[in-house]
Amino acid sequence: MAGGRERKRKSSGPLHGGGFGSGGVEKGASSSMAPRRKSTAAAVPVLMVPDTDSLDCDICYLPLKPPIFQCAVGHVVCSMCADTLKDARACHVCGVAMAGGYRRCHAMERVVDAVRTPCPHAPYGCDAVPAYHSREDHFRACPHAPCRCPGESCGFMGSTTALLKHFAAAHGWPCTTKGRVGEMLSIRLRDGFNFLVLKNPHAAGSAPCLLFLLNVAQERLGRAISVLCIRPHVATTASGVVEEPLSSMQCEMVLSRSGGGSLCRCHYQMSDFQVARTDLANGMPSRDGCFQFVVPHTVVGDDDQDRIEVKARIVIN
Ligand SMILES: [Zn+2]
Ligand SMILES: [Zn+2]
Ligand SMILES: [Zn+2]
Ligand SMILES: [Zn+2]
Repeated sequence: MAGGRERKRKSSGPLHGGGFGSGGVEKGASSSMAPRRKSTAAAVPVLMVPDTDSLDCDICYLPLKPPIFQCAVGHVVCSMCADTLKDARACHVCGVAMAGGYRRCHAMERVVDAVRTPCPHAPYGCDAVPAYHSREDHFRACPHAPCRCPGESCGFMGSTTALLKHFAAAHGWPCTTKGRVGEMLSIRLRDGFNFLVLKNPHAAGSAPCLLFLLNVAQERLGRAISVLCIRPHVATTASGVVEEPLSSMQCEMVLSRSGGGSLCRCHYQMSDFQVARTDLANGMPSRDGCFQFVVPHTVVGDDDQDRIEVKARIVIN
């Protein structure tokens, strides 16, 4: 469990004011290798700090994270600022003289490790309570970050796992769960929403599968197939989607027909296009933001009035 690792250390006591005297630093410094004193007090599950400024570096204002340093007065600074100012003769905040730069502050390190904030995705099943200083790292990687159901007027939100269950239970939408990223798959697409779950061999631990929405929309000349990757933590743009900045996702889609249609004897079309990512927080993205793979009505035979068989492969670069 993610929370277990993060709860290993107990709060060692209340925080008195904003700084620590130099005497406290020396005590803390000399005990850095000593066995940790066991607290007899009950563990504090979540320590609330209304003013989180006191947990930020006095110079760069970023959350303090061990190792932490301080001047003789007690202004605490992060390791990056302490390193930048290692040759400074005076504290950057108060100007007090410092011989040898900022000193390590173990007491503040214990405090910032003890201050925890529950993950905002707790309503979606996350029980992690990350330290204040590493909460952003957790939020970015939280496997419970919700995505929204694309169903019109359906407000359901949940992790991609919860969404999949919801799609089947509440909407009966078809879903293909066999396949891997990079593999060419034969998929029969129904009009409306179709879902595809692919194992991602490139995934690092928390998200071994990727969820795709293949939308088949009826158009005047044919059916337009668009592909979206449903993923949390995607900052949506005005068009409702954003491309993966580092690893881009492409879809290779092929439709091949011989016979079937009364007007078309043979047809082949292939496209290789970018797959947009979205958490659907603002509903379905605009059509302009997604490639449309348009299958003409004259190609699809009478037997396939509401189904199109395509071959598709998702590739991540
Ligand atoms: Zn700093
Ligand atoms: Zn100072
Ligand atoms: Zn979380
Ligand atoms: Zn729904």
